[in-house]
Amino acid sequence: MPVEEFDVVVAGGGPAGSTLAALVAMQGHRVLLLEKEVFPRYQIGESLLPSTVHGVCRMLGVTEELAEAGFPIKRGGTFRWGARPEPWTFSFAVSPKMTGPTSFAYQVERARFDEILLRNARRKGVEVREGRAVTGVIEGDERVTGLRYTDPDGAEREVYARFVVDASGNKSRLYNSVGGTRNYSEFFRSLALFGYFENGKRLPAPYSGNILSVAFDSGWFWYIPLSDTMTSVGAVVRREDADKIQGDREQALKALIAECPLISEYLADARRITTGRYGELRVRKDYSYHQTSFWRPGMILVGDAACFVDPVFSSGVHLATYSALLAARSINSVLADDLDEKTALTEFEARYRREYGVFYEFLVSFYEMNVNEESYFWQAKKVTNNKRTELESFVELIGGVSSGEAALAASGRIAERSAEFAAAVDQMASSDDGNMVPMFKSHVVKQVMQEGGQVQMKAVLGADAEPELPIFPGGLVVSPDGMKWLPYRPA
Ligand code: FAD
Repeated sequence: MPVEEFDVVVAGGGPAGSTLAALVAMQGHRVLLLEKEVFPRYQIGESLLPSTVHGVCRMLGVTEELAEAGFPIKRGGTFRWGARPEPWTFSFAVSPKMTGPTSFAYQVERARFDEILLRNARRKGVEVREGRAVTGVIEGDERVTGLRYTDPDGAEREVYARFVVDASGNKSRLYNSVGGTRNYSEFFRSLALFGYFENGKRLPAPYSGNILSVAFDSGWFWYIPLSDTMTSVGAVVRREDADKIQGDREQALKALIAECPLISEYLADARRITTGRYGELRVRKDYSYHQTSFWRPGMILVGDAACFVDPVFSSGVHLATYSALLAARSINSVLADDLDEKTALTEFEARYRREYGVFYEFLVSFYEMNVNEESYFWQAKKVTNNKRTELESFVELIGGVSSGEAALAASGRIAERSAEFAAAVDQMASSDDGNMVPMFKSHVVKQVMQEGGQVQMKAVLGADAEPELPIFPGGLVVSPDGMKWLPYRPA
């Protein structure tokens, strides 16, 4: 068999792999994507963020297809969490009654969503081969030069490429070939037990598509509407309570639901789905980690292959697709001979780590709220003598020492670039909406939302988006079409 060669070969056809493959193929490069399963296949991670739906997916050209798929519209989140005994709601929109162009996301059956992205990659020119398990990388003198994989008939194959991308997710071990180590979070060590229900209760309109997250003694529940009648329900249980999900999973989930009055109420008339794709009760653990290196010459990690942190803020698909966009820009720049590999991939890694860091730090503060039952918020307010609410004082205290000034400065630049988006966030912050919890008016949360807004604005404005500044000295900026990096040249 002749030696096969591509510009890029991607392992894994989840959101990270199909996004990266499509964005590179759209620049005219030859891309092979190898996926172990035959789609549609099951995956967890159903609650999306607006930056994925309106940012990366718009760049991919699947906005219409997603709209036509009929996925439930997620306007924000509803939480029974922290000091408040009552559920509270935040909305992506300035006004929850008005839907702006980027003020919602979708709750998706991942089998359908991932298939849309994978088929789109094929339409964009990617050679997609399903039923092919990648077994290892091929190393040259100083770089990774290709992949080994198994065909459906069991035959071993080799393929060579300028870049190998590991987008094979959480379970594959391919990431080891990039070097460094996978550091598991000491803080986020929970386990998740999850399944699917028919006929669960819905939140009242206009929030019926929201994710509902409910803290209880052993951890927290997600409750995600996936259709008018089907709901994804998962218990995220603290490591100390891991024994509660040992043994019979059906009994374990029942017992956990019984511990949580709000979820019990929502599932009072529901029945668990016990057949088909959604019939299994599944467990996941050890899912919060980051790799110490995200690339080496010839090889790049994106999505869960590189890092993931706790699902409470639904950041997984966002990080997967955003990292794919960052890596695609680097690859496109190198393949076009615009930049050398080190410069391009240093930019990818810096931006990816910053985005991961913003979520990580934010989540740590969010969990402290839950873990500390004597109201950490009250303590933060007392220590800082802050005139704001207790909850807001806590978030701002943590924010001052967490994600750092680069991200804060970046949000300022985004605000300059996009008066519309900044005004929307500010308006939300000053909103009198009684459902809007004070925390979502804090600077830290505004910053996170503005980070997400960067990708959205790029997609909305396209070539009309104003040029941005580098995020670190000597760093690069995004090309007007969003597909590559450019050296920064001050006007
Ligand atoms: P994946 O989606 O895992 O895709 C990887 C692909 O690679 C798969 O199709 C797999 O078959 C393929 N593959 C694996 N090995 C090989 C191989 N050797 N050769 C070829 N192909 C291979 N995220 C959210 O955004 N919202 C949520 O609500 C959410 N909830 C979550 C709840 C839990 C309990 C957990 C653990 C995660 C959750 N996530 C959530 C995270 C989300 O599941 C992931 O971040 C996301 O799926 C990552 O996408 P990916 O493309 O990197 O990997």
